[in-house]
Amino acid sequence: MTRIALLATGGTIACRHTEHGLTPALTGAELIRGIPMSRDAELVSRDVFSMDSSNIQPEEWAQLARAIDQSFQDCDGVVVTHGTDTMGYTAAALSFMLLGQKKPVILTGSQLPLGAPLSDAESNLSCAIEAAMQGVPGTYVCFNRKLILGTRAVKTRTTSFDAFDSVNRSLSGIIDSEGVHFLRPQKISRPYQLRASMDSRVFLLKLIPGTHPSVLDYVLANGYRGLVIEAFGLGGLHYIRRNLVEKLKELRRHGILILVVTQCMYEKADLSIYEVGNQLLSADVISGQDMTTEAAVTKLMWALTQPRPAELLSENLCGEVRE
Ligand code: ASP
Repeated sequence: MTRIALLATGGTIACRHTEHGLTPALTGAELIRGIPMSRDAELVSRDVFSMDSSNIQPEEWAQLARAIDQSFQDCDGVVVTHGTDTMGYTAAALSFMLLGQKKPVILTGSQLPLGAPLSDAESNLSCAIEAAMQGVPGTYVCFNRKLILGTRAVKTRTTSFDAFDSVNRSLSGIIDSEGVHFLRPQKISRPYQLRASMDSRVFLLKLIPGTHPSVLDYVLANGYRGLVIEAFGLGGLHYIRRNLVEKLKELRRHGILILVVTQCMYEKADLSIYEVGNQLLSADVISGQDMTTEAAVTKLMWALTQPRPAELLSENLCGEVRE
């Protein structure tokens, strides 16, 4: 028997209609009762919290990472049921917090509640359990019969059943009528250690033409320790009329770590190509290369709690940058 822990955290998959709208209500045990079960699986359910994922924040990621770590002691794999809205952030956060993990963690959820007509809940959950039973280490999102590396999962659609894309990396696996096929699993190269702390003092700025440097005074004045910039194209920003570069240099002098990604959904930032990108490099920022915003934000929050954060930010830890 393969022992799988189902950790329930809420989300649409667990929702019931109430007078205030869809609200998470089903427990992990109730979710398990709603799906067909493989005879080779023993499922244990644990209710970590019951929330719409829009309310999930770094404190919940830490709570969830600790619950997963505990389940590693007595289970072969872990399935996490979670709301879809911030699942990409949680999957990326867990990837860093559980770095070196020797067992699978599979996040799933659904666009419609379990039991609703047309719901994708049953299929997503049973696929996630089957995927966890393969014993392939790493953190993944399982959705619409796709397996996506935790640091590459982005919610790209609000109503389609095919709600998640694997951004800048091919799928980690697929599920078809012959079973679960892991095509590109996570490379595990470090010893496992739970590192569940996060510094939430990270700010994300998406540039628009004309962004005024004074918005960054807010970041300075409010004790932020890290800044992610979604820059233009390969990683440009404006320095004429409104000089963002000078302001970023000021932030660096105050010790704020700056990670630059592109606001294009696909492909990489490369600050060395254009003069506008080189200006950024002169401000001593770190290129996030082809990282998703979800991975960049969570990696920065996590790295700020670790020794030598700038070095960690320049390395590929768990598939978040091109290998
Ligand atoms: N609002 C829900 C959540 O993220 C949406 C979903 O689960 O699909 O919790």
